[in-house]
Amino acid sequence: MKVLSLGGAGFIGSHLTERLLHENHSVMVVDYYDDKISELIGQPGLTLLKQDIREDNWGLEEHVKDADVVIDLIAYANPGLYVKMPLEVFELNFTENLKIAKACQMLNKRLIQFSTCEVYGKTPASFLNGNLVNPDDPAHATFSEDHTNLIMGPIEKHRWIYASAKQLLERILHAYGLEQDFNYSIIRPFNFIGPKIDYLLNETDGIPRVFSYFMDALIHGGQMKLVDGGNHRRCYTYIDDAIEAIYRIVQNPNRVCDQEIFNIGSPHNETSIKDLAVLMKDIYANDMWQEGMPELPEIIDVSSEDFYGKGYEDSDRRIPDITKAKSLLGWEPEWDMVSTLKATMNYYVTEYRLHYGMRSWKHDLLKKAMASKH
Ligand code: UDP
Repeated sequence: MKVLSLGGAGFIGSHLTERLLHENHSVMVVDYYDDKISELIGQPGLTLLKQDIREDNWGLEEHVKDADVVIDLIAYANPGLYVKMPLEVFELNFTENLKIAKACQMLNKRLIQFSTCEVYGKTPASFLNGNLVNPDDPAHATFSEDHTNLIMGPIEKHRWIYASAKQLLERILHAYGLEQDFNYSIIRPFNFIGPKIDYLLNETDGIPRVFSYFMDALIHGGQMKLVDGGNHRRCYTYIDDAIEAIYRIVQNPNRVCDQEIFNIGSPHNETSIKDLAVLMKDIYANDMWQEGMPELPEIIDVSSEDFYGKGYEDSDRRIPDITKAKSLLGWEPEWDMVSTLKATMNYYVTEYRLHYGMRSWKHDLLKKAMASKH
C-alpha cells in the first residue's frame, strides 16, 4: 500500500512509519522535522518531504492523488500551547486539517484522521457540584465514540479551542460521509506515551507534556510540579499497543473501519498525575539513579494559573470505552502502567547518557560543588 503520512515524523508518526515500513508498505512522510525518524531515512519504501504544510502550493493534491490512503497526524497537541497561542492551535488543527480532508474528499481517497480524546471534554462529576450519587464511579468518565455527549468549558477557558477545533473537524468528516459518501476513519488517542513522546524540557523551547516535565526533573534535578494538586486522571497507553491498533485501522479488514470513530487507549492504566509523579520517582530511584547524579526531585504543588497562565482548565478524567476497537479490530492493549513507564523512562535515560554522556552530570555536580563552597 502507498501511504501518505502527514506529520509522519512526530511522536506517533515516527513509530507508525517504522511499523508500516516493516510491513513492506511504501510511506511518503511529510513533516517539517525529521529527527525522530532519522534512523529510518534511507530505508527502502520511505520518502521524506521536509515541508511545512501551512505553506501554499506545496503539492498536497498531487501527493494525495498518488496515495492509497492518507493519514493526517498534523497537530499541536500539547495543552501549554492551547493556552499560549490559541489562534495558531485553531489554524493548524482545524483550517489546515480541513484542507487535507477536502483534498481527500475531492480525490476520493480514504483518510485516517487523528483527533483527540479531548473532544469528550469534562465529566459530569466536574460540574454537577456533588449532585452525582457516586461521583467517582468510572461509568461517569468512560467515554464511548458514538454515544457520549461532548462537554466543553466556557470560552474564556480558551484551552478548549483545541478540543473544539478537533470536534468540528470530526463533525465535518461525518457530514462529508453522510452527504458525499466520503470514506474516513477517526482515531481518538488516549494519552499515548513512549519513547520520543516529547523533548525534555531542557532540550526544547516548546512546551512538552507532563511526562517530559517529570522526566526532566528526574534527570536534571529540579522539582516535579503537580498542577492544581495533581488530582486529574489520565489513562496512559503505551505506544506499541497504540501502533498495533492504528495498524489494524490502516489495514481496514473487511472495511470495518469505514466511517468509524475509534477510541484507542488503555482503560486499566488510569492514574492520577500525583500517582504518576510518585511512580516515576520510585522507578527512577530504584532502577536508574546512580551515585553522582542530581538528587531526586521533590514533588510540589503549583496552581494552574502559575504553571500555564490564564485560560487553562483541565479535563478531569477520561477513560476509553474500547468495546468498538475490541469487536471490530480484535484489539486490546497489553502494556500495564509500570511496564509502560519503565520502557519510556529507560529510553530517555539511555538517550541522555548516549548523547550527553556523564559529562552533563559531572558538570551539574561541579556546579553544585562550587556553589556549596561559597
Ligand atoms: N501537569 C502537571 N505537571 C506538569 C505538567 C502537567 O501536573 O509539569 C498536569 C496537567 O495539568 C494535566 C496532566 O498533567 O492535568 C496532563 O497534562 P499533559 O500536558 O501531559 O497533557 P493532557 O493529558 O492534559 O493532554
